[in-house]
Amino acid sequence: MKPDEACRRKIIDGKAIARALTESIKDKVEHFRVETGKIPGLAVVLVGNDPASEVYVKNKAIQTHRAGMRSFMHMLPETTAQDELLELIARLNADAAIHGILVQLPLPKHLDRNIVINAIAPHKDVDGLGEANAGRLSLGMDGHVPCTPLGCLKLLQETLGTLRGLHAVIIGASNLVGKPMAQLLLRQGCTVSIAHIDTKDPGSLARQGDILIVAVGKAELVPGDWVKPGATVIDVGITRMDLPDGKTRLVGDVAFDDALEKAAFITPVPGGVGPMTIACLLSNTFDAACEADKGV
Ligand code: NAD
Repeated sequence: MKPDEACRRKIIDGKAIARALTESIKDKVEHFRVETGKIPGLAVVLVGNDPASEVYVKNKAIQTHRAGMRSFMHMLPETTAQDELLELIARLNADAAIHGILVQLPLPKHLDRNIVINAIAPHKDVDGLGEANAGRLSLGMDGHVPCTPLGCLKLLQETLGTLRGLHAVIIGASNLVGKPMAQLLLRQGCTVSIAHIDTKDPGSLARQGDILIVAVGKAELVPGDWVKPGATVIDVGITRMDLPDGKTRLVGDVAFDDALEKAAFITPVPGGVGPMTIACLLSNTFDAACEADKGV
């Protein structure tokens, strides 16, 4: 086997895995429509005009339509008052055509993220970030699981099968990624270590990981020599990097080329975790529609 082909086979194709998941959701949505006469609906709320967030919410709308679901976009100005946003969320909570609500983060500074996220009814909180769903996850109960860590878990399971007994090291401890990721991996029987900004010598911890998940948001923070030989690396970070020729390039939190030499498997940026995040959002929305239909 040529070395370049050997390297290519180590790269986890998030796009392909996400496409397969979206196709299976599309089939289930069609069955659901025929059986119940209902169509799952996802409302996405964006406040302000952060260019990256605009791209993310447009992608979410496109994928929602592709899966046969209804998409409701609410693009609000940067100056939106918290009360106005809470009123919109209350209307969406009460709207039977909407099964999932996602408020795109980050929010402008004058809005209180915790108050806004917790205003979403837990059964419609398909991003799983409210205190009800976060609590259920940490107690090992069913609920909506945050889409990005759920996508990472699916990539790991697709690549490795069982994760039981593996040591997973997570760099980054946010509510959005690191903490729910740790809960999900504990449930799978992993031994979990979490590093964060105050961790002394994160490299020596990272080198112990059979699984290394990095969600920090600092371009190429993790050099190749932080990767244990044969580890599986999931790179959640996305940073737009300026190039000398004036163009830009998306890079992850891991120095990809060096890590590729050490790892057994690794996700690329872009084309790794990102597509899985959207596919898992669709999956959570479909589950929410099924629960609403059953009157759960
Ligand atoms: P965050 O800023 O909320 O959290 C960052 C975490 O990294 C914190 O726990 C912090 O303590 C830790 N950290 C910061 N510097 C560190 C360092 N030098 N060493 C070790 N730990 C350090 O970020 P977030 O919302 O979790 O997002 C992280 C990255 O993941 C960002 O690049 C974001 O764009 C990306 N992201 C991607 C997706 C996707 O779908 N692909 C989804 C969510 C987030």
